[in-house]
Amino acid sequence: MSWATKLAKPYRVEDGKKFRLKDYDPGDTGRLRSREHAEELLVKGVATLAELQDKLYAQDRWAVLIIFQAMDAAGKDGAIKHVMSGVNPQGCQVYSFKTPSSEELNHDYLWRTMQKVPERGHIGIFNRSYYEEVLVVRVHPELLQSQRIPPELLTKDIWNDRFADIAGFERYLARNGVVIRKFFLNLSRKEQKKRFVDRLDHPEKNWKFSTADVKERECWDDYMAAYEDMICHTATKHAPWYVVPADNKWFTRTVVSAAIIETLEDLNLAYPTVDDEKRKQLQVARKILEGRKETGKKNG
Ligand code: ATP
Ligand code: MG
Repeated sequence: MSWATKLAKPYRVEDGKKFRLKDYDPGDTGRLRSREHAEELLVKGVATLAELQDKLYAQDRWAVLIIFQAMDAAGKDGAIKHVMSGVNPQGCQVYSFKTPSSEELNHDYLWRTMQKVPERGHIGIFNRSYYEEVLVVRVHPELLQSQRIPPELLTKDIWNDRFADIAGFERYLARNGVVIRKFFLNLSRKEQKKRFVDRLDHPEKNWKFSTADVKERECWDDYMAAYEDMICHTATKHAPWYVVPADNKWFTRTVVSAAIIETLEDLNLAYPTVDDEKRKQLQVARKILEGRKETGKKNG
């Protein structure tokens, strides 16, 4: 087992049936000796990820979709920034899903997602996603009104229906070569408060502070129930959730890095091999290059 798998595995949920959020401690730091140890692994992880992504891109077969969901201040942005810091920006796109626009509300809720699914050879990161449809919308069901769904379709089964539709959508993507990994950054209520106060205390962090986030915090228990039910119903082998402890940012980032690495390692990526025809072309190209005298002139 690689170091990445060893580190990430305890947090991977592939079968949600028995999932209980209370079994996962936001303050857990696993078997890592220290913060320094985690940071060393993250540096190693950044380099490994760069190599794997290069192969993913060259091979151009699989697409990798990474989804982040979490309460505010759980560290989604920081995790994305640090973990992906070594990868070639040409092969990686980050997309942040905000409150749906009026155009988006004119459509079914997966409509806006479809175009943002990464192309083959690429890594796509969703900073929030269609999972908001069973999180914020569930905690504030009045949001369903703005979706203008015909009233006879708004039944008590709506959340289970959405879980089933999301699972179907992910199965469809998986069968098309889109590898899906989902991260729930599991922050404690106490640590969230600390981070909000920190945003108030430091002028350079004031811009991050939002009164709306403090209001959402009032619904903490409803959110946790919604997250638990969501993971119960949507964790599968082909699209697992990682429930990543988020009270220590250094640990969160190292686990996220490890999880993405284990995912790419499992794909057994390799650079495309060159066939005889191509090898001949390369030899011809070498002859042309070696036969040409460099004049030093422009276009020479
Ligand atoms: P940050 O605050 O770190 O910049 P963020 O992800 O919180 O990042 P915001 O612009 O503050 O970004 O928030 C986006 C908001 O959009 C969230 O409150 C989220 O719940 C909401 N949102 C996203 N998708 C949906 C959706 N499908 N329906 C309703 N609200 C949604
Ligand atoms: Mg926000």
